[in-house]
Amino acid sequence: MNQHDIFDSLARNAFDFLGRAIDDFDKAPKYSVIHFCAAVEMLLKARLMMEHWSLIVSKPEQANLAKFMAGDFASVTMDEARSRIRDIAGEEIADDAFNSFRTLANHRNKMIHFFHADVEKMTAKAKIVAEHCRSWFHLHRLLNRWERYFRDFRDDIAQADRAMKAHRKYLSAKYKALKPDLDAARKAGNKPKACSACGFKAAVPDALDDQIASLRCLVCDHTEIQFEIDCPHCNQPIVIANEGYATCEHCAAAIDSDDLADALANHDAVHMAIADGDDRWEPANCASCDGYHTVVKRGDIYFCANCFDWTDHVERCEWCNEPNTGDMEHSYFAGCCVCDGKAGWEKDD
Ligand SMILES: [Zn+2]
Ligand SMILES: [Zn+2]
Ligand SMILES: [Zn+2]
Ligand SMILES: [Zn+2]
Repeated sequence: MNQHDIFDSLARNAFDFLGRAIDDFDKAPKYSVIHFCAAVEMLLKARLMMEHWSLIVSKPEQANLAKFMAGDFASVTMDEARSRIRDIAGEEIADDAFNSFRTLANHRNKMIHFFHADVEKMTAKAKIVAEHCRSWFHLHRLLNRWERYFRDFRDDIAQADRAMKAHRKYLSAKYKALKPDLDAARKAGNKPKACSACGFKAAVPDALDDQIASLRCLVCDHTEIQFEIDCPHCNQPIVIANEGYATCEHCAAAIDSDDLADALANHDAVHMAIADGDDRWEPANCASCDGYHTVVKRGDIYFCANCFDWTDHVERCEWCNEPNTGDMEHSYFAGCCVCDGKAGWEKDD
């Protein structure tokens, strides 16, 4: 078996566990929690596998290929997998995504260590399905981001997505019970929108400004940022949810964070500011996602069109003078997300 074969069998196994977790949910909710979590862990490991097999081993410096192939090794924890994906593959798994996986893992640990007689109850089941919905939402996005590795599993991903949509029926009782709260939100002018994780119209918006809203789903607790723009390709209105790229539902064109930054920028204010020598409207760099010029000023907030993080101020890097979100206190020496500061300049010298 070479690296590719091991990746393949790991990913295949993960989709098998995921399918089982969803199919067997009604009969065996406890095993569903365990299997779903195992699938998430396996897919994170499969991603690490594409860097090097030894990264799946908890102590890579002691990794031994013969033992590895024999299954005789301690494997990485979910937290270790996340930091290795960040430090070695250079890809960040955002807090909201990782927290959804961690909730799943904590629940799994409880299931393994303590006997829970009440897991068959409807409320316990709804809680599990809500966790599954949030985790699948984030996992699905990671798999799309890692499309170049998971290309051969396109059908498995689509199949899992269909199964998850059916799985949501366990939340309909909760959705119905929430009707008074949703009606109250509607009356208060916060009309609930469709949640990207569970599909129910239960995501209650809290406006950040006149265009951007942060939403919290009352059914599954998923949170996301949403706003509507006119597609830069076909001019039809589209909803952008939670991330800096999308495919237009009308014309199928790809929309990236540059398009979003352009759509969200207040062009009149920018032109006026340039004429007045006011530099506060210049596009800034994002300390959360390292986005270059992805942060636009909108009234009182600065919003990143790539990772949807927002802050109330930006600071200039003391070395390169670029505006950035995040703390610029040591930037003269250490630089910012686009420069290496004095330290980097001296090293190049
Ligand atoms: Zn939801
Ligand atoms: Zn379009
Ligand atoms: Zn960002
Ligand atoms: Zn800088």
